[in-house]
Amino acid sequence: MTDPCPVTRRLLDYVDASPTPFHAVAEAAGMLAAGGYTRLRESDAWALEAGGRYMVTRNDSTLIAFQVGEDPAAGFRLVGAHTDSPNLRLKPNPSYVKEGFRQLGVEVYGGVLLATWTDRDLSLAGRVTLRDDPQPRLLRVDRPLCRVANLAIHLNREANDKGLGLNKQTHLPPLVGLEGKGGEESRWFEDFLAAELGVESEQILGFDLMLFDVVPSTVSGFHGEFIHAPRLDNLASCHAGLEALLASKGSSAHTRGVALYDHEEVGSRSAEGAMGNFLESVLERVVLGTGGTRETLHRAVANSLLVSADMAHAVHPNYADKHEPRHMPRINAGPVIKVNSQLRYATNADTASRFERFAIQAEVEVQKFVNRTDLACGSTIGPISASQLGMPTVDVGNPMLSMHSIREMAGAHDQRAMVAVLERLFA
Ligand code: ZN
Repeated sequence: MTDPCPVTRRLLDYVDASPTPFHAVAEAAGMLAAGGYTRLRESDAWALEAGGRYMVTRNDSTLIAFQVGEDPAAGFRLVGAHTDSPNLRLKPNPSYVKEGFRQLGVEVYGGVLLATWTDRDLSLAGRVTLRDDPQPRLLRVDRPLCRVANLAIHLNREANDKGLGLNKQTHLPPLVGLEGKGGEESRWFEDFLAAELGVESEQILGFDLMLFDVVPSTVSGFHGEFIHAPRLDNLASCHAGLEALLASKGSSAHTRGVALYDHEEVGSRSAEGAMGNFLESVLERVVLGTGGTRETLHRAVANSLLVSADMAHAVHPNYADKHEPRHMPRINAGPVIKVNSQLRYATNADTASRFERFAIQAEVEVQKFVNRTDLACGSTIGPISASQLGMPTVDVGNPMLSMHSIREMAGAHDQRAMVAVLERLFA
């Protein structure tokens, strides 16, 4: 394998270590702790100091980290991204046996490109709650456990011409084993979880578990131009924000920080999602906790910039007509500024230019994206956060292909460019 630049290598390691939002937050917290960030709890009283570095989580799946600025009124320089990716998640009573196969019932989380989940080496990760311990356990099984097996072409002759149609209820449950192979028949799934966690089967109370592909991320292309990895949307942006934050040395007048949200892929409407009050509450505690007033908070918000970072659609040579002809982001050609007049993106000329000035300082080229006028546009946390917080916001992201596939594709050189621009934001 061609060796990528160190930032891209660290990105791939972060993605591989983060099969679920819980793992993405735990990994981020580990990176931040190593960088001198102290953990706060929302339920504790906070004693913040100018220049101090802190992090706080909600539901263990959303994380906000910040370094307090010297002047509470100087505002915030923030990177927003999301920790969740479309996937298949276990139902509360998942286990059953059919035609001799053990299977697990799954729900579809977000806009999954379903056909890509077939015939993969899948495993389980997430968190499990126990009867006698209030602390949920992180779980990640690192070997192939199951498969959403395709039907043979001989039994589905139109699969290629009509596209692989999959019924979400009947065609997605993965095959995890055969009937009667060890363990008590009625509790084979709980027994499996208990064995993985090293606890008694009766301790298993509940879980948030999801499927993931165990195959590690890789670099590809004749000259190592590409990366192939799951969850680049949007762990690549989480990672870029974290790298830039950890690289920023010394303190500044403004508070710098990252907000890595769960639940973007299903609309952000949760306590820990971008529609919740988590970031608003943290910003208020930062300003009021460092000598500011409510008026200082309003001044700070007006002086702020939120860079909402989420991946962008690169032009695909086989489907180039899906792009607006003069807005075709290319792989390895730098961060993309996303524009949409229906406000699916929060960008305006002013916030776009602020981002572009940071790019000029970093000697990084930027690209601009607008959807074809006759195609509906996706959205992200930018417009939600902008309207929740009343904060100037720009939507950006690195170019990629195969978005929401189980295995996505992006450029091996774009991560370094995005990190360089975000470092200027935090400077
Ligand atoms: Zn996304």
